[in-house]
Amino acid sequence: MKILVINAGSSSLKYQLIDMDKKTVMAKGLCERIGIDGSRLKHTPAGKDAVIIESPMPTHADAITLVIDALVSPDHGVIASMDEIGAVGHRVVHGGESFSESVVIDEKVKEGIKECIDLAPLHNPANLIGIEACEKVMPGVPQVAVFDTAFHQTMPSKAYLYGLPYEYYQKYKVRRYGFHGTSHKYVAQRAADMLGKPLEELKIITCHLGNGSSVAAIDHGKVVDTSMGLTPLAGVIMGTRCGDIDPAIVTFVMEKEGLDPKAMDNVMNKKSGVLGISGISSDFRDLLAASAEGNERARAALDMFFYTVKKFVGSYAAVMDGVDAIVFTAGVGENNAPCRAAVTSTLGYMGVAIDPVLNEQSRGDERDISAPGAKVRTLVIPTDEEMMIALDTQRLTM
Ligand code: ADP
Repeated sequence: MKILVINAGSSSLKYQLIDMDKKTVMAKGLCERIGIDGSRLKHTPAGKDAVIIESPMPTHADAITLVIDALVSPDHGVIASMDEIGAVGHRVVHGGESFSESVVIDEKVKEGIKECIDLAPLHNPANLIGIEACEKVMPGVPQVAVFDTAFHQTMPSKAYLYGLPYEYYQKYKVRRYGFHGTSHKYVAQRAADMLGKPLEELKIITCHLGNGSSVAAIDHGKVVDTSMGLTPLAGVIMGTRCGDIDPAIVTFVMEKEGLDPKAMDNVMNKKSGVLGISGISSDFRDLLAASAEGNERARAALDMFFYTVKKFVGSYAAVMDGVDAIVFTAGVGENNAPCRAAVTSTLGYMGVAIDPVLNEQSRGDERDISAPGAKVRTLVIPTDEEMMIALDTQRLTM
């Protein structure tokens, strides 16, 4: 079975065609500038150079048509015809409280995704457009929605409610949802596989550390808490996002700087985080380089990042009454050895100990970097959200 995985944005669309029998990516690509001048498709068949196809894409349906053309092209295609695509899996950012797992898309599901637009005004409309474009271009092919929020829906109310008037939860569904759920689920399952135990028997803390970062506590296969909240702005300090701050700062700064809600939102999402602290970059590679050259603010930004991640790890171990494995994933978690060393450095009392050599050597592959005899295993697991989406899609459509 071959599954097309789609991640649709407002003016872009990422895709991967996955061969589920071999568990390999046959081709992947990106449509950019949909609906604007200069649209182009970058298509990369596995093991071959990327091809750039410049062609107008007034709508997402045009983009999907071009993707299919590229996939079946005699020159750079990977399948003979569209009929080989057994199903399509869509990444959908917000499923609110309506979706606690992936679902086959029908009219009711589309309504449900629409109802969550308030909670993800930038993402859900684009995801929906991607779904409707596929329905148009590939009629009859089953479509599945996989939600970033779904895996976290198992959280108990003590973890997801905020200390605000309850009516805001009732009226506006203001609560913690959490994000990166597909990634947390994937790496937790892989961790269980690596440890040779069922996920249902383990306590795992997963650290998805990239431009956006979140930490999740997964107790016997169920998320019991996670660091992101109503939106992906909460939790650890991130590339450009502030993470958790004293909520009173928001109105204080708005008054002092004369900012309206939109401008303040922009500051917290785009100008804060390690970029805001360092004044240099949101990219952790730049910060490591600057810090090595003695830049104090780059050092401070990195220290803050490591420290906030560590605080979540410690508190989640407390919440679960211990932990069997800590998993590092995503751009920083997978590649940044100093980050893993710093986050785990003072957790020896819990039984966490990493092998410095294994930590340094770990690059882009699944690895147990624990020191011999460590009670808690520390694992590096590259995330694969597309594969997780494809696996759910296959499970629901076969
Ligand atoms: P996104 O949230 O955009 O999906 P990624 O998971 O791709 O982000 O992570 C991007 C981050 O990973 C960047 O800040 C980048 O600096 C960091 N990163 C990637 N490779 C390395 C590396 N070798 N060393 C340190 N940081 C890295």
